[in-house]
Amino acid sequence: MSSKNIIIPIEELDLTDLSSADQELVEHAKAAATDAYAPYSHFRVGAALRLNSGRIVTGSNQENAAYPSGLCAERTALFYAGAKYPEDPVAKLAVVAMREDGKMANLAAPCGGCRQVMLEVADRFKQPFSVILAGEKSAKIISDCRDLLPINFDASSL
Ligand SMILES: [Zn+2]
Repeated sequence: MSSKNIIIPIEELDLTDLSSADQELVEHAKAAATDAYAPYSHFRVGAALRLNSGRIVTGSNQENAAYPSGLCAERTALFYAGAKYPEDPVAKLAVVAMREDGKMANLAAPCGGCRQVMLEVADRFKQPFSVILAGEKSAKIISDCRDLLPINFDASSL
């Protein structure tokens, strides 16, 4: 018998300690969150991607009465970027969540489906990208999005 431990490096920073470019990306994610359609969860999520070209693409959660038909903010942005700018790799992703009262949630952790999509986008471009999970005052940064899904379809990490 053998066992393995999976370690996910996560850097924690105050928002003010982020680079100005990363703060800008978080602001884009916050703005996107206000455009969410979230009449069921009342939880508005915004995602902002910076592509290699410098272009910023945003997305927000879009819910639907037929729940599985809705889509998360992260995938809305990633799929839009893939559809509109298929040759422009993702360099960074910022995610925020806003509660119904308009205050930021402490952390918006992507769901498993979004983690799988992030992993495949990184593999597609052979370019891992970092993920900023921003709260009201601080952020957690995962430097390689693939670390968020260590046991995936490929499972080469095992
Ligand atoms: Zn998701």
